[in-house]
Amino acid sequence: MSDIIHLLPDSVANQIAAGEVIQRPASVLKELVENSIDAGATFIQIVIKDAGRTLIQVIDNGKGMSETDARMAFERHATSKIKNADDLFSLRTMGFRGEALASIAAVAQVELRTRRTEDELGILVEIAGTRVFKQETVQCDLGTSFQVKNLFFNVPARRRFLKSDNVEKSHIFTEFYRIALVNSNVAFSLFDGEEEVFQLPASNNKIRIENVFGKNSKKRWQQQLLTIETTTNLVNIIGYVGKPEYAQKSGSQYFFVNGRFMRHPYFHKAVLLAYNQMIQSTESPNYFIYFEVDPQTIDINIHPTKTEIKFENEQAIWSILSASIKESLGKFNIVPSIDFDQEGAVEMPVGMSAENIRPPQTNFNPNYNPFGSTSYKRPVLDWEELYGDFEKKDLPIESSPTWKPTFNSASVNINSTNTQQQVIESVESRSGNFQYKNRYILTGVKSGLLIIDQQRAHTRILFDLFISQIENSNGLSQQVLFPEVLELNADDALFFEQIIPDLKQVGFDFEPLENHTFNVKGVSSQVGTTSVIDLLLDILDRAKTTAANTSQLLHESIALSLAESSSIKGGQHLTNEEMSDLIDRLFACANHNFTPDGKKIMSIFTQDELEKRF
Ligand code: ADP
Ligand code: MG
Repeated sequence: MSDIIHLLPDSVANQIAAGEVIQRPASVLKELVENSIDAGATFIQIVIKDAGRTLIQVIDNGKGMSETDARMAFERHATSKIKNADDLFSLRTMGFRGEALASIAAVAQVELRTRRTEDELGILVEIAGTRVFKQETVQCDLGTSFQVKNLFFNVPARRRFLKSDNVEKSHIFTEFYRIALVNSNVAFSLFDGEEEVFQLPASNNKIRIENVFGKNSKKRWQQQLLTIETTTNLVNIIGYVGKPEYAQKSGSQYFFVNGRFMRHPYFHKAVLLAYNQMIQSTESPNYFIYFEVDPQTIDINIHPTKTEIKFENEQAIWSILSASIKESLGKFNIVPSIDFDQEGAVEMPVGMSAENIRPPQTNFNPNYNPFGSTSYKRPVLDWEELYGDFEKKDLPIESSPTWKPTFNSASVNINSTNTQQQVIESVESRSGNFQYKNRYILTGVKSGLLIIDQQRAHTRILFDLFISQIENSNGLSQQVLFPEVLELNADDALFFEQIIPDLKQVGFDFEPLENHTFNVKGVSSQVGTTSVIDLLLDILDRAKTTAANTSQLLHESIALSLAESSSIKGGQHLTNEEMSDLIDRLFACANHNFTPDGKKIMSIFTQDELEKRF
């Protein structure tokens, strides 16, 4: 029998390779535009027709190609960007595999026009299905123009595989954003047929973000983006993160490294962690983060279409990233408290004036360890940072074991018969605070009228208190006269036993009985609920769904259940003293702007807004 193995012709080999690199019109756009960037273009014009099915054209003012290069460019493994294997570890270009043009030319009809500054005439190459049809000198502009027509004209199966125009276009825009957002110094224009959908002048990254996503959209990019900036030996990070209140179900989230878009689930977690408790768990923040690292320390040689990138110093960069974001968010969250009017009605702790607040550091603090601090506190804005030399002992801080709130829901009589009288009293005796609809506390601050949601404020105060009790074992216990019995199933009882130590820290006391039941002998003195059993079931439920794999998360989940069940509710009347007390304690919390689960606690009705009404 004769031998049966033979080499495939180039056209077939290229078509097979194209299956990897070129999956849809968006892949063509990505490869062509990246080539233009690598060619040093400062202006790139893109035209698509029929969602890229019939035409994708990319015109640039880059360095162009010589006649030989224009022909060579379509060969497989033909590249000007690397020479040997070592070069793979010092990459500064987007491309390096030398297979994009060969792949595109295998599955489409391509027309290339290109001219370098030193040449008077340019070159035209026409190639389709890997066959060159024309190669001649022509008059043409400086730079390069690629027209890619009728993608998959010779691969019907792949053409049928394409999705609707809208889907294909959205893939195209996705690729376009990824390149445009990290090349803000390059001007872009994108035409969909006759319509110019994007016109992006050269700018900086922030303006580019606004230009790409629209200035007038609800996202209000200009207002929502906070800058992060960190310079270390390992990495430089520059970027923008969205304020927590702009977080959405699906945020705009972009990481770039050395000018290249990347996906990085691990770093994504670092970002989310920095927002911990500032946003709902169902929301995710917007971010645009640009890393610069030594190319030797990353591996981008994974797969032509994959965007994952491996970092040598992943853990260290994770910490740096997380700290840097926390710092920016911390700076932003301090604003309402710096804003306080000293003459206003709220009694501020001595020393809490703008002069005494040292501005948080601008640069990354190498000593700051995000793992060392508990996540429910703003890391940078600790007591010293906020209040300078102010003596802690004078303040009702949450870590003080002897501190008890002067009121909790148990001590406020909801069915008070002299409510009317109390309201009058509170308005008279302290003109600064006013309770609206027994739900909001209104008080004057420098820039306007501050409105505080009383229930949320109290939830934050209690949450911080319970966390401190769990961690410092300083909860006070109240023995109950008639112990209640908590009955559980076997599963829940096992889990409950795990959280008993934490519950004891805040003042609960249990006596295990038979058949998965527990006698509740003592209750935290801060708990203001009537049904302790319901509360315990609620704690158990939440702790289970938190999938509490770290003790920190478990603590937070327990503290949140306790805080929610014990906080004063909307509809509850507060005396003026109670309001002042609540405000003071709220501002003693490291994060007084948001509840532990990310709800806004306060809002300012500005002087401007007020004046506009008169
Ligand atoms: P790679 O980008 O990986 O090198 P490509 O197949 O995308 O491989 O391109 C092959 C070569 O063609 C590039 O290395 C480059 O020298 C040249 N080239 C492609 N596009 C352009 C362009 N727009 N301007 C100048 N040269 C280009
Ligand atoms: Mg390329």
